[in-house]
Amino acid sequence: MEYWIYLLVIAVIVLAAVVLGRTLTFRTRRYAVEPVAGVEIDVDGAAERLSGAVQLQTVTGADPSQADRAPFAQFISYLERSYPAVHATLEREIVGGYSLLYRWKGRDESLKPVLFSAHIDVVPVEEDTEQEWLYPPFSGAVAGGFVWGRGTLDVKIQIIAILEAVEYLLKQNFTPARDFYFAFGHDEEVRGDEGATRLSELFRSRGISFEYVLDEGGCVTVGGISGLDRPVALVGIGEKGYADIRLTATGEGGHASMPPRHTAAGIIGGAVAALEKRQRPARISPFLKEMLAYIGPEMGFGKRLILANLWLFGGLFKLVFASSRPGNALLRTTTAVTMLEGGSRPNVLPQKASAVINFRIAPWESGQELLDHIRAVAGEKIAIEPLQLYEPSRISPVNSSGFKAVEEAVYAVFPGAVTAPYIVMAGTDAVKYEPVCSQIYRFSPFQINAADLDRIHGTNERISLENIERAIRFFIELLKREP
Ligand SMILES: [Zn+2]
Repeated sequence: MEYWIYLLVIAVIVLAAVVLGRTLTFRTRRYAVEPVAGVEIDVDGAAERLSGAVQLQTVTGADPSQADRAPFAQFISYLERSYPAVHATLEREIVGGYSLLYRWKGRDESLKPVLFSAHIDVVPVEEDTEQEWLYPPFSGAVAGGFVWGRGTLDVKIQIIAILEAVEYLLKQNFTPARDFYFAFGHDEEVRGDEGATRLSELFRSRGISFEYVLDEGGCVTVGGISGLDRPVALVGIGEKGYADIRLTATGEGGHASMPPRHTAAGIIGGAVAALEKRQRPARISPFLKEMLAYIGPEMGFGKRLILANLWLFGGLFKLVFASSRPGNALLRTTTAVTMLEGGSRPNVLPQKASAVINFRIAPWESGQELLDHIRAVAGEKIAIEPLQLYEPSRISPVNSSGFKAVEEAVYAVFPGAVTAPYIVMAGTDAVKYEPVCSQIYRFSPFQINAADLDRIHGTNERISLENIERAIRFFIELLKREP
């Protein structure tokens, strides 16, 4: 008996030592980077140029064929006027009608080129929300230290910052070692086939592949992760898949006085409830582990202990993490019932009832697995119709020249922040470049809080002058600090 007690005590001591040892050796991955010296940014000028870009209403709505293309054409000539050195030096092509492709030729042809991607189009302003804007959404007002308007954050800042950086460096007579390409699509917000899709095909047809691609995606967030005071630069290494699935049940119709046990509406209600209840399983994926390895060491002792020992506390971690919405979205394919329809009168049995469910597919699952899951949970009586289905992207490596280039530029411009790889929840153009690059990162170089995040695709979208400056500096770092 005593013998077993001794063994147990020894086991507990060994376990505690291992847990503590792992916690103490769970070290920060941050490091300091000296920014490029002597850079002076004309922030007010850049703000004016961003303001002008925002005033051109390059809106794509639900039906891209209905989009007003005049502002897109004006946008192209606006950039020509605003960045004369860029347009005098770089090769430029117009692709797919309104997308732009620039090539800045480097000194050394043996080096693989780099691609910066962004998009020209913006989402519409939701009807009846215009009056909630402090400044009209396409005014591009420069006020109170911000440029206001649709597209400031998503993502005209990325285009303006890239061109400001290149214009600045050209005036310094700088030429990069490798070729840099800049590709600005015009239909990202509608997942169109005319913008980045064509740009990517063009690269393929010319046999061009890239060292790394940088597109929009994460940004530097403050206060977004509980237990972490430090700003976090979330660099997307992949993106979730997307599916809108319509479920339809059919019934017999007729008067409601002698109904069957389940009407079409009831059957749909049951299926929807079942799908909400039986969610796709939560998983601490290798990608999430990678992210936690970056942010974990920045946390207080308690959280650090748990994150350093997921082999032991994984179950507990999943439970806690899944209780927050962003945490849950990182752990699994999410299920969101967004639309319900059925019946036309209170006393008539519906002949048809339907629901639309939006799923964001985790990178380790496929569209087919999702459809199988829906079939298994919703039952045989329900018709399942994918309205849209995009598979998750590939995942780019963290231990790579491209990630390191982005990380170094982050540390040069956002001292004190910690970089962390993550999975982007929304779709971007980045995925279109998978055929021409295996290192694809998604990051927008500005620092905002959760409230500002809601302004993206929302009301009162704006960017601070401070962030405009950071964004330009970030691209100067990337252009001068080559992998
Ligand atoms: Zn965007």
